[in-house]
Amino acid sequence: MALGLLSGSSCSANSSSEAQVRPRYVLGQAQSAQVASERDAFERPSLEEIPIREAQPEVQLSEEEWRERLTPAQYRVLREEGTERAGSGELLHVKEDGTFVCAGCGQALFSSEHKYDSRTGWPSFYAPISEEAVGTKMDTRHGMRRVEVHCSRCGGHLGHIFPDGPAPTGLRYCVNSVSMGFTPADGTPVEVPPTEEAPSEDAPATR
Ligand SMILES: [Zn+2]
Repeated sequence: MALGLLSGSSCSANSSSEAQVRPRYVLGQAQSAQVASERDAFERPSLEEIPIREAQPEVQLSEEEWRERLTPAQYRVLREEGTERAGSGELLHVKEDGTFVCAGCGQALFSSEHKYDSRTGWPSFYAPISEEAVGTKMDTRHGMRRVEVHCSRCGGHLGHIFPDGPAPTGLRYCVNSVSMGFTPADGTPVEVPPTEEAPSEDAPATR
């Protein structure tokens, strides 16, 4: 799945460009409709359908130890559930192959394979690197009902999950850049992503 690696692409942009090239003939329209229905066939979950599974962190440090380990900005997000300013994150535009890791404990959280441009100003993924990597809980602060997502190993707050992401999950893991570090796949950041529809051998499963 190369969705997240495409510079400047978005679901809406893809949809409009496809609509413009839709064939005029009946047969062509039928084929086009079939393609469209396959593309839209994934089940978009509701907020209530996002699984709530709060982690039991194995890394337990005192607040003082966390303050020593983290920068003030990291502490505010990871330990106080703060939110960085939109568009400010260093990892927002990272498109290289690699792994996003927890800034609190180093656990692998997200893969570049699942990253996409949500145009929200925060790094966005349609899935975590594994279901075990993150935990979730309902967050009703600020008069909103949101699903909070945190690192399963240290409990560090990462961001929130919204049901407006792309296929195949329909989820958007909206993550604070400051809560993560990035490890390039081969140690050398690369510039060229795979082409849009080309299947890759290690494409993520539709889980
Ligand atoms: Zn962690």
